Amino acid sequence: MAAHSLRGFRDLLPPDSTLFTAIEAAARGIFALYGYRELRVPTIESKELFVKSTGETTDIVEKEMYAFTDGGGREVAVRPEGTPGVVRAYIEQNLSQSGRNAKFYYIGNMFRAERPQAGRFREFEQVGAEYIGNASPFADAETIAMLLKFLEKAGLPGCSVDLNSLGCAECRKNYRQTLLAYLRGCSEKLCEPCRGRIERNPLRALDCKIDGPWLAETAPKLTLCPDCSAHFSRVQDLLKLSGVKFSVNPGLVRGLDYYTRTVFEVRSSALGSQDAVCGGGRYDDLVKSMGGPAAPAIGWALGVDRLAMLLKDKHALDDSPKAFVIAAAKEAGDKAFELLSALRDAGLAADFSNFELSLKSQMRSADKSGAAFALLIGEDELKAGTVTLKPLKEKGDQRTIPFSEAPSTLHTLLKG
Ligand code: ATP
Ligand code: MG
Repeated sequence: MAAHSLRGFRDLLPPDSTLFTAIEAAARGIFALYGYRELRVPTIESKELFVKSTGETTDIVEKEMYAFTDGGGREVAVRPEGTPGVVRAYIEQNLSQSGRNAKFYYIGNMFRAERPQAGRFREFEQVGAEYIGNASPFADAETIAMLLKFLEKAGLPGCSVDLNSLGCAECRKNYRQTLLAYLRGCSEKLCEPCRGRIERNPLRALDCKIDGPWLAETAPKLTLCPDCSAHFSRVQDLLKLSGVKFSVNPGLVRGLDYYTRTVFEVRSSALGSQDAVCGGGRYDDLVKSMGGPAAPAIGWALGVDRLAMLLKDKHALDDSPKAFVIAAAKEAGDKAFELLSALRDAGLAADFSNFELSLKSQMRSADKSGAAFALLIGEDELKAGTVTLKPLKEKGDQRTIPFSEAPSTLHTLLKG
């Protein structure tokens, strides 16, 4: 039997892969404008890194992590998210000492053993941003505004952000007790996993896919301390100043343990039940708790697979060659091969099928390729040092031009 891929893992074929590349290019363009530089960290890290940073009681660590013992007896995990690796690198490589802003982005595949559904895969791609070392509301506003500029550039203008503040460790200390007392009081209504973890981490119940929605209505709300409250209102003012559309959603808690203060999400109803495109927030205590310097930080991670689903119908991605070169006679093959190279040197995407096949067969391939023009060299062209140019998509006469003028003529025709 032929081999097949694992459930939840998929092949990304063109033109979807072309769309992914376009999204990545849009991201890189925006990151450069905002002073972000790329960090490439390993796909596999020690399991402990994720347990300690993502959080022991999170769904990601409890249920979704691909963790295993390697041949050397080491407990390792394939990364389920990007932030822990970036923070580890920031500490290990002394990036706080570089004198430059610690603004990093990553683009890479993440792995989570969850139940595969539309928009939910076991291997998926994230574009992520982390800004370490700036506690001020300007950093929050810049990070969120940058995310929306990216979405706009990728082809999704006018997104709105869901915004909330989870407060600092101090605000949460009191809230934890209040919430825990409430959850104990209604524990028979909670799902099995929540019942098991409320004592260790009552906040997780608020992010639960089953209990979260009704708890958002009924559970007591967090009260922010004066500092956190002032921070949150500054962030909102600055977002208004930046023209960012947002709405405050007190039910938004996010599924990771390290968040403090500002958290946010971008959703799209067009995605159905897997509606989150991007999530992020502040993590002011994480770097220190991982053994690094006191470094407040903020970041986000965007699901490229889900963004691609939203963009699929909007983008008419043209990945066809501009020119298709044909050798209309056997002895014209070498010259046709030379033409391909000349076209590419001039920045024109050019392709061919097989110069040793019949003219009819090569023409069929040219039509299928989606190329705008076929460029033919046969016996006559070979003798005269010319190329015959034949429009494939639009009606028009074919013409014969000098070989050396083929690239410039094609450029002109493509512009027109
Ligand atoms: P969800 O609530 O959909 O499970 P999440 O809160 O687990 O999302 P994050 O950890 O915040 O997701 O990751 C950021 C983004 O990565 C999500 O908004 C989503 O677009 C994408 N993402 C997360 N898990 C998957 C997955 N299994 N398959 C595809 N994309 C995913
Ligand atoms: Mg999830």
